Amino acid sequence: MQGLMMDVPLLIKSIVLHAELNHANQEVVSVTVDHPRHRYTYKDCFRRARQLAKSLDALGVPNGARIATVAWNDFRHLESYFGIACSGRVYHTINPRLFADQLVYIINHAEDEWIFTDVAFVPLLEGIAQQCPSVKGYVVMIGETHMPATTLPNVHCFETLLSAQSADYEWPDFNENTASGLCYTSGTTGNPKGALYSHRSTMLHTYAHSLPDVLNLSALDTILPVVPMFHVNAWGIPFSAPFIGLKLVMPGPKLSDPKVLVDLINQEGVTLGAGVPTVWSPVLQYVKDSGRSLKPMVRAGTGGSACPVSMMQEFRDEHGVEVQHAWGMTEMSPIGSANSPKPASMRLSQAEKDELFKSVGRPVPGVEVKIVDDAGKELPWDGIAFGSLMVRGYWVIREYYKPDRPGAAHDTDGWFETGDVATIDAEGFIRITDRTKDVIKSGGEWISSIELENAAVAHPAVAEAAVIGVYHPKWQERPLLLVVKTVGQEATKEELLHWFNGRVAKWWIPDDVVFIDAMPYTATGKISKLILREKIGDYQFPGSAV
Ligand code: AMP
Repeated sequence: MQGLMMDVPLLIKSIVLHAELNHANQEVVSVTVDHPRHRYTYKDCFRRARQLAKSLDALGVPNGARIATVAWNDFRHLESYFGIACSGRVYHTINPRLFADQLVYIINHAEDEWIFTDVAFVPLLEGIAQQCPSVKGYVVMIGETHMPATTLPNVHCFETLLSAQSADYEWPDFNENTASGLCYTSGTTGNPKGALYSHRSTMLHTYAHSLPDVLNLSALDTILPVVPMFHVNAWGIPFSAPFIGLKLVMPGPKLSDPKVLVDLINQEGVTLGAGVPTVWSPVLQYVKDSGRSLKPMVRAGTGGSACPVSMMQEFRDEHGVEVQHAWGMTEMSPIGSANSPKPASMRLSQAEKDELFKSVGRPVPGVEVKIVDDAGKELPWDGIAFGSLMVRGYWVIREYYKPDRPGAAHDTDGWFETGDVATIDAEGFIRITDRTKDVIKSGGEWISSIELENAAVAHPAVAEAAVIGVYHPKWQERPLLLVVKTVGQEATKEELLHWFNGRVAKWWIPDDVVFIDAMPYTATGKISKLILREKIGDYQFPGSAV
């Protein structure tokens, strides 16, 4: 027997239609190269998205065509998300921080037909255009007066394209499983792999990520996504902000400039910021040095890599900002879990609550999780057993786009292997202890590099810390701590090693410390342990030379 409810397809256009009627006058503010502070409303945004869809028709771009965007977070990028996806094409966000050969690989693998780019990335694209035969033309996301001289073939100006079209466009209907967006993971091994999102997965993700125990979004909020729109849809904020009706503030090319971010927070009344820990630490340093405040902000969402407890405490104790620690990945659209309290958490002491913050929280409704051992056997949720973290759900990939090895990332029951190692406690709180490839195995037992890094950065002389496993003749591997010191602070190796006493199990304490000038980062802002391993070369622990 079938239910008798309407079978309305879950299409992203429903966000547009809802926002146009219900949040038409809500503001969208952006920093761009041609506008220090551009502001308009969702009504304007979606009028222009319709003009963009008509421009794509006029250019003869077929349904399903992949259109790459190489752009910062701003209003034109937002219009492109909707204009491309809702008209039946696929927006393919590209991270401009990738190496040129990775960009070429991704563009060719996706067979992008058009590339929409910010002015800043025109030279980058000029350098690789010859190697990208599928690309029929380029659109520079700017007005005529700022159009750069370029060697790119078949170039159009975004504003000129739009101004040639009316907004008289009706969004088409199609199957909800139609592809809407594409984003490649920048894996440290092998070629990048594409996660191909659908309208259905995006809509379900939008509902879930707005929930009170996830990002807790309300029309009374003003949100600042510092997470880039070129990486996992800026956590889905471009969709949830108009759907829920939040004021949306986007930093454009200034997303690494703490002064501009603090200006935006104060002047635009940002209540909720979203960024990786490497975005927040310079912001916190800047407010400390300048004596400015984060006053309107009440919540900071963080994810992408482990958020140190010390960062959460600084936000809470110095600024009254509550940190929401979440976990996810490109293959999960991206949200998988969020650390919101349960009734039992409220009965914990402050120290226990701080300890619980290290968890990335509980699975978001719609995502199932399990941990398994090397043989694929499910492990208990006891907060102790470590296992490979597997996920399943509405917005998790069932396959990569044109995979080299079909099915390789899934088990026989369709669970996706995240590549993370985790524990899960009886209340469902997940702790990511490592990436599978970063796990340190000492005498057959696992040591969590994330736990050690968390303890290390709580030391005032440690600005940044990374722990990697290094060969040891007796224990097979032992942890080595790499540290970037805080400017103006000193600490010896011995002091730092002593610091771990009582903070982690004794046998977890690293065997040595190496001081380095700067931490290497990947294109998505995570510490690159691959480069660190190359950096330390054939390092041997003192006294362990073979
Ligand atoms: P990406 O697909 O580039 O967004 O990277 C996803 C990976 O980032 C995950 O598989 C985790 O290894 C890591 N990650 C994301 N969020 C967290 C977090 N809150 N704590 C620790 N690692 C995280």
